[in-house]
Amino acid sequence: MPDCPHCHQSVPEEAIACPFCRAPLKAFGHPGIPLYQSPSGSLCTTCLYHADDTCTFPQRPYAESCTLYTSPEQTPEAIAYRPSWGNRLRGWVGQRGGWLLLGAIAAMSLILALGNR
Ligand code: SF4
Ligand SMILES: [Zn+2]
Repeated sequence: MPDCPHCHQSVPEEAIACPFCRAPLKAFGHPGIPLYQSPSGSLCTTCLYHADDTCTFPQRPYAESCTLYTSPEQTPEAIAYRPSWGNRLRGWVGQRGGWLLLGAIAAMSLILALGNR
């Protein structure tokens, strides 16, 4: 059984939260989505996506928890599960959808206001 990164008690592999300290252990409350956590400091300093400068997450380089953390020492099979650029772009747009919509409305309003002069 793995250890809780916060209280270091042994926890069941599929636990969503630590039964001892209630710290979240999986992302979005889903047992199939691992949530990598650093007990001290940023995960990014040891992450493959930080090293190759392909991470676009806003929490980089100070992420203390992350669903996509990938250690350079991970097996090639694990790295092969790296999401495609399309999926990463969809994730980026999904995280900022509200701001993108607001920006588009502001841009349209500006264009219409300038066009009516
Ligand atoms: S994938 Fe997560 S841990 Fe890796 S660099 Fe990006 S934010 Fe940091
Ligand atoms: Zn715990």
